[in-house]
Amino acid sequence: MRPDILNPLFTESTALKGVGAALAKPLERLGLLRAVDLAFHLPVSWIERQRVRRLSEAETGRMVGLVLTAHDYRASGTARAPFRVQASDEAGDPVNIVYFGKNSGWPRKLFPIGEPRFVSGRLDRFGDDLQIVHPDHVVELGEAGVIPDREPVYGLSEGITNGRMRELVHQAVARAPDLPEWIEPGLLARKGWPGWHEALNAAHEDPVARAARERLAYDEIFAGQLALMLLRASTRRRRGVPVVGDGSLRAQLKLPFEPTGAQRRVFGEIDGDMAQSVPMLRLLQGDVGSGKTLVAVMALLNAVEAGGQGAFLAPTEILARQHYASLQSMLAGLPVNVAILTGREKGKVREATLMGLADGSIHILVGTHAIFQQAVTYRNLALAIIDEQHRFGVSQRLMLTAKAERAPHLLVMTATPIPRTLRLTQHGDMDVSQLDEMPPGRQPIDTRVIADDRMEEIVAALGRHIGSGRQAYWVCPLVEQSEDGDEAAAEARAKILQARFGADLVGVVHGRMAGAEKDAVMEAFAAGRLKLLVATTVIEVGVDVPNATLMIIEAAERFGLAQLHQLRGRVGRGDQRSFCMLLHGPHLSETAKARLALMRDTNDGFRIAEEDLELRGAGEILGTRQSGDQRFRLATPEQIQDLLGAAHDDARLLMDRDGGLSSPRGEAARTCLYLFERDAAIALLASG
Ligand code: ADP
Ligand code: MG
Repeated sequence: MRPDILNPLFTESTALKGVGAALAKPLERLGLLRAVDLAFHLPVSWIERQRVRRLSEAETGRMVGLVLTAHDYRASGTARAPFRVQASDEAGDPVNIVYFGKNSGWPRKLFPIGEPRFVSGRLDRFGDDLQIVHPDHVVELGEAGVIPDREPVYGLSEGITNGRMRELVHQAVARAPDLPEWIEPGLLARKGWPGWHEALNAAHEDPVARAARERLAYDEIFAGQLALMLLRASTRRRRGVPVVGDGSLRAQLKLPFEPTGAQRRVFGEIDGDMAQSVPMLRLLQGDVGSGKTLVAVMALLNAVEAGGQGAFLAPTEILARQHYASLQSMLAGLPVNVAILTGREKGKVREATLMGLADGSIHILVGTHAIFQQAVTYRNLALAIIDEQHRFGVSQRLMLTAKAERAPHLLVMTATPIPRTLRLTQHGDMDVSQLDEMPPGRQPIDTRVIADDRMEEIVAALGRHIGSGRQAYWVCPLVEQSEDGDEAAAEARAKILQARFGADLVGVVHGRMAGAEKDAVMEAFAAGRLKLLVATTVIEVGVDVPNATLMIIEAAERFGLAQLHQLRGRVGRGDQRSFCMLLHGPHLSETAKARLALMRDTNDGFRIAEEDLELRGAGEILGTRQSGDQRFRLATPEQIQDLLGAAHDDARLLMDRDGGLSSPRGEAARTCLYLFERDAAIALLASG
């Protein structure tokens, strides 16, 4: 239960004074649903107001505040042209105060003729005249002192002004209680950080509140570290079952290739972990195409040989089906029962699968998050594998491991190479295996960066490609701020390409399609009946069609580098030379150019991830879209770099001294966990 002291911060934003239906939408868009969200909505910049007596003392282009008196109005008849208040300062120098919009009643009310007003706004030059467009404050002289010289500027959305946002944030911050200190006193003193309450206030009031901001960021990182340590401690505390296969199933596996040295090494690392009664908690990093699936299969067979069950969790339906298909073909002829469970298995099929899992006749279950829903019980879950972890959060991981009486061994596989600092923030102290060797015969993918005004050439090259019997992907970007924009873009592109190459050769898949329909298209593409697959990013991870050797990505500048690397990894999977065309629109920014050039110049996923971090920051790599509980709202990537080490050590120290978080400092740390909504981690504490 969240401590009562935090309740005022967890009231809904809509309960704040002055929040009506009109503000609810913009607040929701900004993710500011509760007071705590507003309190943590820190200023992005500051207005510094220059107070002057005369216009001649003021700088144009700046926020100024001075006394002005209106002496005439200029309404311009048409609705689109602005309404002007002609005013002057105490020396008689003129300035126009300009209002757009139809309603001139309001400016007339603000500026009665002949009455001086204190006005604040940005002073600009317009031709020979000075003007202030939509002043942010107009008050009677007695109230001039109320307007601060400095005001925070907040991130906004349509429908909410900075003034309104400031009021709401102010209300939220005013609700913030004094909290007990959770930071180790020595560290606090060394850093010269203020207490939490003071830090929060300072961050909203003082543009150079470096220490305050740093402290708030630290709190967030600390909460994350502590949560991960609690998770790990509880996993370690729960005894697992040693799993040692006899090799009988592996011996029957017929592979069309020899495992690479790296694959063999990782098999060994995993077997070693699984043989322990402490549950495995291992992250497998391997670039796209490095052969992680085989590692998964070997680990699963190990579990089955030892009489246990394995669960293989994929991030998307398409990928789950693909894993299912490849497991079935790899394990054909072996006495191993593989089943699939996603949101689509319903009725009798689903019932049968649930029964088979409960009675142990199903050995391996592949699926999406449906495989750890409440209703699913396993007879003896020995191993859980999570593919492409960056889409899953800690809380899902918890649900999965709760599926067995003794904690199952856990293997997390990711193609997104995560730099060490980020790995710590995301996974804590997992053991790490690397597949640092590609299967032999792989050729680097020849990547080109091309402006999309050369569409005709691009389509012609695509035509030659599929004309020669090979296949291709065409990926359309996510269209932001539109519910179904990306699907529409993919559909539209597919129509154009179908007209060119024939409807029977060009397929389309996107997230809005019904599952069976999607499967049919994927299946036709895998079988080679379709030559071109137009898709949204649903094909991002894992899809494996070796004859597809051309990847075209439209509006590549809109994708994250890690995502581009994933997409590009869909080609170059066979022994044929593969190509990737990164199409971009006009007017690329320098950063965008640098990013695409990097993609062109290297195929090395690690380098791409590191540089992406430099160029764009952490959110991109962590995959901001669905990573849910790993996101930082206060800490910047730089702060994470700077503070992670200290937060890690501090959390470690606290855990060593007081693993149950029952000392006064431990209690304070619990409050910190609740503040950052690491409730799942606290539940672990409660259950011991
Ligand atoms: P990823 O690591 O991206 O999941 P996959 O497991 O899908 O990679 O493997 C990519 C391709 O490489 C597959 O077609 C797979 O059959 C093949 N492959 C895996 N291991 C080897 C190997 N040792 N030698 C040759 N090909 C391999
Ligand atoms: Mg894979």
